[in-house]
Amino acid sequence: MARHVLSSTTLKRLEQPAPFWIDGKPVRSGRTVSLCNPATGQSFAECHVSTGHDVDQAVAAARAAFVNPDWAGMNAAVRARILWRLAELIDAHAIELAELETLCMGKPIAAAMRMEVPFFAETFRYFAGWCTKISGMSAPLSFPAGDLHGLTLQEPVGVVGMILPWNGPLVIAGWKIAPALATGCTCVIKPAETTPLSLLRFAELAAQAGVPDGVINIVTGSGSEVGSAISRHPGVDKLAFTGSTGTGRALLQDAAASNLKKLSLELGGKSPVLVFDDADLDAAVDGAVDAIFGNSGQVCVAGSRLYLHKSIRDDFVARLTEKANALRIGDPMDEKTQLGPIASQAHLDAIHRRVEEGVAGGAVLLCGGRQADSPGSYYPPTILDVADQSNVLVQDEIFGPVLCVATFESEEEAIALANGTRYGLAASVWTSQIDRAFRVSRAVQCGVFWVNTHNIPDLGTPIGGYGQSGWGRELGHLGLSEYLQSKSVMFKISPAPMSAGRLQ
Ligand code: NAD
Repeated sequence: MARHVLSSTTLKRLEQPAPFWIDGKPVRSGRTVSLCNPATGQSFAECHVSTGHDVDQAVAAARAAFVNPDWAGMNAAVRARILWRLAELIDAHAIELAELETLCMGKPIAAAMRMEVPFFAETFRYFAGWCTKISGMSAPLSFPAGDLHGLTLQEPVGVVGMILPWNGPLVIAGWKIAPALATGCTCVIKPAETTPLSLLRFAELAAQAGVPDGVINIVTGSGSEVGSAISRHPGVDKLAFTGSTGTGRALLQDAAASNLKKLSLELGGKSPVLVFDDADLDAAVDGAVDAIFGNSGQVCVAGSRLYLHKSIRDDFVARLTEKANALRIGDPMDEKTQLGPIASQAHLDAIHRRVEEGVAGGAVLLCGGRQADSPGSYYPPTILDVADQSNVLVQDEIFGPVLCVATFESEEEAIALANGTRYGLAASVWTSQIDRAFRVSRAVQCGVFWVNTHNIPDLGTPIGGYGQSGWGRELGHLGLSEYLQSKSVMFKISPAPMSAGRLQ
């Protein structure tokens, strides 16, 4: 077994409670919480916790930085170079960042090293490229307005509050922080209670890269205290949120009750995987396994509903359960581990309760479904036959390694099943017919659609939800525009008469 050995830098960092970060400086509140390693169930570090007063300080620092010419007036090419330098520093500290991710949330170290951290770094390179390309337009005027001239400016929205989940602590932060920096916004960021360490280390790297003090502020603590202090704060111009649909609703109310701050919401999903009888079944079986069991199913776009053409169901399910049972589940510091623990015992208990509820409602277990009898919060790959589409396992996001399977007989039925929940985040179709792929991609209501693959995000293609999966988009040019507002400027200019002399 190739077990990853923690670097001496990380071991040293864990000796002291981690401070949070305001105005370019570490802050120690004196009130700390223990962080639990889900692989062992044991506390492994402590973190200082912020208060509402700290949120006020962070917002004040972000406001001061927003109007400071050092940031607001920064040349776009200089801004781009800072983002690029930050990406290089992330790469240079990849091991440390990956270790902190794995310790806090149980993501296998191999996935943290090969995907999470490199994708995080690349996000800053991608948005570095946009810095010098943010521009308005010269507007052709509709009324014959004589000597009027119109143009638009693209301006940053201001101080952005970012409230984050625990399932991709760095990647999901990067989708918000990188476009915010590229456009000239400033940030007050709250990571999830259980996963603050990698982002706090990132704040130090940002300062090293040349991000001015006050542009990035990170506060720690609970959603009910620190999160809502951000969402209700009158000094925050926009909220960028990723998390559950229920919390998204609460933030809407906070925004309405405070200063009508702008909102982008990346919420839950219940993404369907549709496999037709003309698909490459080897690829589809592997794809369905990856779609639901990657990161132990704790992925917003996880393919948690599998719909199979009736004619392939028995063979497909036999192969699927064999592959699921063969996945290596265990210590996330083992470089061969494919499924680490569930991010917390409380979340594991919630997953298991849902599975039991689903079974009581008629779902039939095909594999998994039991909590492992070992320290740490492990849950096996679980697959259930769920014919009744009103079953809780079909309708509710479980956010764990739990897949429900049903069949269809026609393309129309497959589309209706795919569209049969309140969510609309992602979907995939597996087929060898391009015309079918095109039709189904148009008919399924979701923000991201894949053909013959699943869960391959890219920096250039926006991600976001239809229905109750959210508002707005992240990544791509649409993700950038969430941090910009447009100002129209009209000039009345009386041109000086041209003289022959001036042309000479
Ligand atoms: P959550 O909603 O419980 O918490 C998310 C964040 O909100 C945390 O930082 C939490 O402290 C904070 N929070 C909670 N209540 C709050 C309140 N009243 N006011 C302000 N902040 C509050 O979600 P989670 O369990 O951390 O994450 C899992 C959820 O995230 C899943 O539903 C998943 O689908 C979703 N998610 C969506 C995407 C996407 O891109 N659509 C990506 C990843 C995760």
